[in-house]
Amino acid sequence: MNIILLGPPGAGKGTQARMLVEERGMVQLSTGDMLREAKDSGTEMGKIVADVMARGALVTDEIVIGLIKEKLETVKANGFIFDGFPRTLAQADALGDLLATMNETLDAVIEMRVDDEALVARIVARSTCAGCGEVYNDNTKPIPADGVCTNCGQSKEFKRRADDNEESLKTRLMEYYKQTSPLIGYYYAKDSLSRVDGLGDIEAVQAEIKVALDA
Ligand code: ADP
Ligand code: ADP
Ligand code: ZN
Repeated sequence: MNIILLGPPGAGKGTQARMLVEERGMVQLSTGDMLREAKDSGTEMGKIVADVMARGALVTDEIVIGLIKEKLETVKANGFIFDGFPRTLAQADALGDLLATMNETLDAVIEMRVDDEALVARIVARSTCAGCGEVYNDNTKPIPADGVCTNCGQSKEFKRRADDNEESLKTRLMEYYKQTSPLIGYYYAKDSLSRVDGLGDIEAVQAEIKVALDA
């Protein structure tokens, strides 16, 4: 089963994708994570995308489609979770074509709905474990008092993203509404769309996603 988690920055896509990976052995493909890796390892592509990402603008379709294509060609998986991809209609078309050439289907698109005020509050409070990528939140899922990640039990280092500030978030939200939200209609018309209330707590959202996937 291949699925897309669709939603604005801070909707909880990464959090839910990681839970599905753990429970269903699916593989998470996050273009945001891939681009941050390229940036951190200082590749040519990483240098090109660094500024764009810091501003909160979208990286070109060509670059992100290339990243996804490479993963689909090299990674064997019992289903993919596309997290943060596609973000434009061109990317959505490209994904459809790539899956078709592999004789794979897109089985569900889950739209995670969260209102804008909640997104801002979530984003400015986000951090992740440098060791395993577990996602934390100062308000709803704080780093344990002993400073050790509960997920991997090893790392004591937590990172905050350079683009997790109100200024960059405004641009990211604007990009979401202008470029990504048309995908809601696109997938609705393809009969693939399910909507979940992303404002509930993490477990409640997970339960709603399960219902949508197992329907
Ligand atoms: P996205 O990948 O969509 O940008 P994340 O999964 O990184 O979103 O979540 C953004 C922030 O919100 C993180 O700090 C995370 O811990 C927190 N968060 C995720 N899901 C929920 C939820 N259902 N309720 C409250 N906070 C959440
Ligand atoms: P978020 O938590 O905002 O959903 P991501 O980690 O998915 O963030 O993405 C971070 C940044 O990486 C985006 O603001 C954008 O600059 C770039 N990016 C990630 N995925 C894509 C994509 N599919 N198309 C274009 N740019 C992307
Ligand atoms: Zn960890």
